[in-house]
Amino acid sequence: MNPLQTGGPPYDSRVRRAERLTEAYPFAKEFLGLYRSLAGFQESLFAQFASSTKSSNPAAAGLRGDLDLTVLLPQFRGFLSLVEQKGPAALAESARHISTLSSDSWVSLLNAYWTEAGRSDQQVGAFAQFFPRAFLQPYAELRASQTPKPPLATTSMVCPLCGSRPLVGVLRPEGDGGKRFLLCSFCSYEWDFRRILCPTCGEEQENKLPVYIAEQFPHIRVETCDACRFYLRSIDLTKDGNAVPLVDDLAAIPLTLWAHERGYSRLQPNLLGT
Ligand SMILES: [Zn+2]
Ligand SMILES: [Zn+2]
Repeated sequence: MNPLQTGGPPYDSRVRRAERLTEAYPFAKEFLGLYRSLAGFQESLFAQFASSTKSSNPAAAGLRGDLDLTVLLPQFRGFLSLVEQKGPAALAESARHISTLSSDSWVSLLNAYWTEAGRSDQQVGAFAQFFPRAFLQPYAELRASQTPKPPLATTSMVCPLCGSRPLVGVLRPEGDGGKRFLLCSFCSYEWDFRRILCPTCGEEQENKLPVYIAEQFPHIRVETCDACRFYLRSIDLTKDGNAVPLVDDLAAIPLTLWAHERGYSRLQPNLLGT
């Protein structure tokens, strides 16, 4: 069940999961600590965005229609302060810098992300994307929750709601096995996707799609493609029903290094750039 089909995003469970994973994976402590504060802040942003946009029906213009800057801009400074207080040194420094820029610069930063993010095949520096992405994620999730669901298809390589590339795969229990979904890197919508099919290039020969599972992360599948050399991480909820895909992916830092050493790239990095 997609959380976005049942109301708002599950911020509580994201925060709780980040706490759990901090104990399990101490090397991810700094990232997960920042993420916990962020997710808490995103929850309050979501509530504010939802109450201010109720009457205007923003989804009428499509998920990626114009940003409602009168709702967004007043919250941006508070968001920057949070990152300045809770982020690692480099991000905190960037937050300080952005907070000194004009509101026109803020608008350009937000609009550029809103228009382009998740769509391009080019990898965009995760660091550059961090601020607009973390700030606009609740807004994108809000719009996704207000957008009519598209007809079911199982081969769409981009999000049927917003046209973005997937962040991770999600295996949900079905019958004796798992059914694969893709989780959108932009609006967090989940859509059905065939299990034996590369979501980057469409390769469907099983012998070109090797799957690796590290001992340290038994519930995370590294689904590689030898045709295009991209890979997708899939969070396997049949192995760990408590996993929260968005959060478990953040903790899996060693898998990024592992894939990189073997020449596989990730199409969409996660929020923290791994
Ligand atoms: Zn989407
Ligand atoms: Zn491929």
